Amino acid sequence: MLTYEQARQKVIEKIKEKKGPRATERVRVGEALGYVLAEEVKTDREYPPFNRATRDGYAVFAGDAKAGATLRCAGEIKAGDRVTKELWAETCVQIMTGAAVPSGADAVVMIEHTKRDGDQVRFERDAVAGQNFVPRGSEARAGQTLLMPGTRLGYAELALAAQVGAAELDCAQKPHVAILSTGDEIVPVDSIPGRFQIRNSNSVSLAAQVRLAGGRPILLGNAMDREDDLSSKIRRGLQEDLLVLSGGVSMGKYDLVEKVLREMGAEFYFDAVAIRPGKPAVFGKCGETFVFGLPGNPVSTMVTFELFVTPAVDLLSGAAARPLPIVEARLAEALHEKSGVTHFLPARLGWQGARLEVTALRWQGSGDVTALAKANCYVVVPAEEEELAVGERVEVLLRRDLL
Ligand code: AMP
Ligand code: MG
Repeated sequence: MLTYEQARQKVIEKIKEKKGPRATERVRVGEALGYVLAEEVKTDREYPPFNRATRDGYAVFAGDAKAGATLRCAGEIKAGDRVTKELWAETCVQIMTGAAVPSGADAVVMIEHTKRDGDQVRFERDAVAGQNFVPRGSEARAGQTLLMPGTRLGYAELALAAQVGAAELDCAQKPHVAILSTGDEIVPVDSIPGRFQIRNSNSVSLAAQVRLAGGRPILLGNAMDREDDLSSKIRRGLQEDLLVLSGGVSMGKYDLVEKVLREMGAEFYFDAVAIRPGKPAVFGKCGETFVFGLPGNPVSTMVTFELFVTPAVDLLSGAAARPLPIVEARLAEALHEKSGVTHFLPARLGWQGARLEVTALRWQGSGDVTALAKANCYVVVPAEEEELAVGERVEVLLRRDLL
């Protein structure tokens, strides 16, 4: 059986060798959060485009503005003012943050370090050449590439694109991810379930995880545990870029997902992973479409999505597979788990100053969404560990949506 790292690697390797992203689309910069860029974004001019003052104060020639010197203030420059005149020798100009430093000046002295009397400005300390302004072109040269294809667009990348006038961006279309839950007991979330029925929460969490990963969820509802219903709904799902199923992959008599897929010609790259929850997770390809069969217990579904489906969505979006958000923390309470598989236990990570401390939450196993909704991470208990003491360092997988 593969470890979770091996299974993840398998997903990355198989998708990289077979599939690229969809075609591109033009997206307005204000709407492009979470898209993956498909073009280079270049500067339209130098940044900053002029010597930009970073303080309110006086533009000076540093040689004139020694401690104790007094210079005549010859005018003022606000942000946005056109600056054409040179600074005359033995004078200074009042300048505001964001304004252009006039030629002839090589420093800005903070207003706090001056005393003004009429048009006379007295300097309390030596000005230093280069002080308190950002030289033209020092952030970026004209025509320089700032963002490369494959960049995931977050708010800073969008601001950068906006700054250089890229009002529309060529982005990879988000991959379409079909979501199909399975199970005779599953009913829609807006219905009143019978006593032995369960609302379809997995389709909701999966759609949220698809969006978070950068994909577009296509909700196909639920298939009954019958070969005919499964095969027709799976066939529909295979028309998308990726198909994610929940439920029906364990050892029960009515766990038919793998069987139906096999009969449809699927090949599988793994059909179990050494983890708990989530051990029966399967990954394969049917026709041209990659398929994940995730176990139906809600926490299993969520954990296995994070471990295996997120990198698939990354790659199908034209981005690199993001590493798992794993950090190290100290255990606040001892743990004992059976060894042999890697455990992912719902947990709370807290901050004691700079020190990260994690506590596993009491839970009723992989169906317990109540526990997971109180968790902001999972403690990762390695397969070879059985006893973990208080204060021991452990790995913690962060919930991506709460980062
Ligand atoms: P399965 O993996 O099909 O054996 O399902 C395992 C458990 O997960 C069962 O208790 C199911 O009722 C529950 N389950 C399966 N699918 C869903 C779903 N779509 N939403 C919520 N719970 C589910
Ligand atoms: Mg089932």
